[in-house]
Amino acid sequence: MIDAALWSSCPPTKQLYHHDPYATTGTATVLQVSDRYAIFDQSVFYAESGGQVADQGTVNGQRVIDVQKAGGRPFQLPNGEVATIEAVFYHEFEEPCALTVGEQVSMEIDWERRLHHMQMHTLAHFLFHATGEYLQSQGLTRSTRGCHISDSSARFDFSCAIPTDAVPGIQERIVELLADSPEARVDPLPGTQDVFVWRSGDLEIPCGGTHVRHPKEIQGTVTVRRRTKGKGGTRLYIELDRNAA
Ligand SMILES: [Zn+2]
Repeated sequence: MIDAALWSSCPPTKQLYHHDPYATTGTATVLQVSDRYAIFDQSVFYAESGGQVADQGTVNGQRVIDVQKAGGRPFQLPNGEVATIEAVFYHEFEEPCALTVGEQVSMEIDWERRLHHMQMHTLAHFLFHATGEYLQSQGLTRSTRGCHISDSSARFDFSCAIPTDAVPGIQERIVELLADSPEARVDPLPGTQDVFVWRSGDLEIPCGGTHVRHPKEIQGTVTVRRRTKGKGGTRLYIELDRNAA
């Protein structure tokens, strides 16, 4: 976490990936610089949030290794969860950055890493949905304690026991969703700059993350695994083996 003095006077960072999650480059103006951290008016980088890890890449050829959010305000989503909106993004560089306040910069993200996150984020929604269907069939309510989305795996922590023999059915349902789901749509939630609703067929999830447009962009073998997590909870993992495509 950086010193609040660095970000507290900055306006919320405009998030360029919402308009085009396939954009790999962008420009921005430097608002603040301190040692290995910099803040810009806008960013093509995804800042870690909603379980999805941050993008990496370069700004003016200098290596960005992490992007985190600071400040912002809580916003209640239609599903009852609370998201932080209007945050300031601070970009962490590998080395002290050679940038000047007011300077125009060129940004480029590591595209393969981002695309993998977009694939796993979409799969995480299918895991969430398929598990919800299973729990509903058992007369249980779906409640989650958190999630994490990275390069080739994603996981959800559910607040209830999910037995091992339920896992093959959940995996099968995800494979079915992957084969049958139409192109996804992402629309802004009225009253916010950075909360959106992801829709694919009948699935609808409020989300500010990045997703692939079409499930066909996810090629490989999907595996679901489980383990007991905390008191009465279950962690479900979804993994994508892209080499098996
Ligand atoms: Zn999402």
